[in-house]
Amino acid sequence: MLELEQALATILASVPAPKSELVSLAAAHRRVMAEKILMQTDLPPFDNSSMDGYAVRARDISSASPQNPISLALAGKIATGETFHGEISAGQCIRIFTGSILPSGADAVVMQEDTQLEATRPREVLFLDAIKPWENIRFHGEDVKRGAAIAAAGEILGAAQMALLAGGGVTEVKVGRRPTVTLLATGSELKEAGSALAPGQIYESNRAALAPLIALAGGVPKIFPIIPDSTEATRAALSRASSECDVVITCGGVSVGEMDFVKSAFEEQGGQLQFWKVAIKPGKPFVFGRHGEKLLFGLPGNPVSAFVTFLLLARPALLRWQGAARVDLSASSGVLTEPFSNPDKRRHFMRVAVDEKGGVRSAGTQASHVLSSLALANGLVDVPPETTLSAGMTVQVLRWE
Ligand code: AMP
Ligand code: MG
Repeated sequence: MLELEQALATILASVPAPKSELVSLAAAHRRVMAEKILMQTDLPPFDNSSMDGYAVRARDISSASPQNPISLALAGKIATGETFHGEISAGQCIRIFTGSILPSGADAVVMQEDTQLEATRPREVLFLDAIKPWENIRFHGEDVKRGAAIAAAGEILGAAQMALLAGGGVTEVKVGRRPTVTLLATGSELKEAGSALAPGQIYESNRAALAPLIALAGGVPKIFPIIPDSTEATRAALSRASSECDVVITCGGVSVGEMDFVKSAFEEQGGQLQFWKVAIKPGKPFVFGRHGEKLLFGLPGNPVSAFVTFLLLARPALLRWQGAARVDLSASSGVLTEPFSNPDKRRHFMRVAVDEKGGVRSAGTQASHVLSSLALANGLVDVPPETTLSAGMTVQVLRWE
């Protein structure tokens, strides 16, 4: 039985090199950058005002105070987006707005609130305070200098990174292609929702969780119908699935029973199993195989086992397939509000509920078929074998959403 790290290393070593495609920036949310992008201009591109007010030469109002207002001649106005050709001379000021280009000759902007206008003298502005040179000015390049990197290959584009790229005038980005992922559920007891259950049957539920998790990892899920437990049906479904996708994810049918057909059907098709069984709980019977460049993830059927093994073993591969540098789940630290005990010889990834203050408690019963505690959970805590983590301990909580 493989340790989790060995299993993951084997999987990541089997992921083919990423292929890239060009997409519009608007369509690039959550995509993995396939190129480094350098800023083509300074940001901001020109010195500009950070206030609505008046551009001045600071020395002209160095003795201004509320008791001694200084009057400057209003020599013009620069709206945002306009250029300005003149130059500000001694004794002059220019009306200016947040984002307006700074007129040459000016070395400060006085905010409107520190000035006064008099109805009888419309061509003058009274300044009630002195100002230091360069106050209220945003300098060209102070945010990003031309030539600086604004995106790195392997980075996943979030909304904030997209704003920076847009600010740099980027319209298209080269990103990793997304893997198409067929999703198959096996089990003769499983029914599609919408039909009544006969005794012995349950509604199929794993695809409902796995499809969104695949999409969150950047994969394009393709959901297949339920496969009954037979060699022929499993073989036919696997062969169709692998011809239609980059990655096949199955659930169920990988245990030790004589009704578990996934491993044998995959091998009969020419696929090679790389390993079976990982030393984690839930999810031990997980199997991984390759068929040329195509990858097979055989998740165990129990709903929580399928969920957890997807997150720990399949999700990283989908991200790496797209070229992502970081493939691990994000984690946040929290404090246990109760002890967590793992008497088992395998690490236990326990379903936990983290409250707003970072308190971490068990989400409920931890058996691998229990959907209600999975639904209450918003994280997983990795509890080492034969260990009790005591209340008050700080732990890392793995998150999937
Ligand atoms: P298996 O891994 O096929 O031996 O299934 C283990 C347990 O998980 C059995 O109780 C199955 O009924 C249940 N199970 C398997 N696949 C699914 C599924 N897609 N949805 C809900 N339960 C499942
Ligand atoms: Mg089964």
